[in-house]
Amino acid sequence: MDCIFCDIINGNATGEILYEDERIISFLDIRPVNYGHTLVIPKAHYENFLLVPEEELAKLINITQKISSAIIKSLKPDGFNVITNNGAAAGQSIYHFHFHIIPRYKEDAFNFKLNLKSYDQGKMKEFATKIRSAILL
Ligand code: 5GP
Ligand code: ZN
Repeated sequence: MDCIFCDIINGNATGEILYEDERIISFLDIRPVNYGHTLVIPKAHYENFLLVPEEELAKLINITQKISSAIIKSLKPDGFNVITNNGAAAGQSIYHFHFHIIPRYKEDAFNFKLNLKSYDQGKMKEFATKIRSAILL
C-alpha cells in the first residue's frame, strides 16, 4: 500500500515532526494554509474518521488539543481550526486519517465558501429523525 504518511512514520520520507509517541505522530503540513498548519495522525493506518478505534481517537483528540495549545502559545494566531476531511467530496486527499490544526488570522485568505440552505416545513424534523435512528452508542 502506497501511503506518504506511513512513509513518514516509518522514516522512509522526511517530515518536520513536532511530536511523537508510540501511537501518534504530528508534523507540519507541507503545503500550509498558514505557516504552522499541523497534522496529527495515528501511526496505525486507518482510512478515515469512522475507522479509528474509540480509544485511539480519544488519545488523538487529546494530543490535538495539546498541540493546538502549543500553536496558540508559540505563534499567537487570532484563532485556529481543527478539521478532518473525509472522502474526496470533503477534500480528503490522503487516505490515512488525520486532524488538521490550522492557525488563523483575521485577514487571511482561507475561507469556506458557504452556500447556506434553509429547511422547508417539516424537513428539519425529517432529517433529525433519520439521523437519530441511526446513532449507535
Ligand atoms: P487532506 O486533503 O487529506 O485532508 O490533507 C492532506 C494534507 O497532507 C494536505 O494538506 C497536504 O498538504 C499534506 N501533505 C501531502 N503530502 C505531504 C507530505 O509529503 N508531507 C507533509 N508534511 N504533508 C503532506
Ligand atoms: Zn498510511
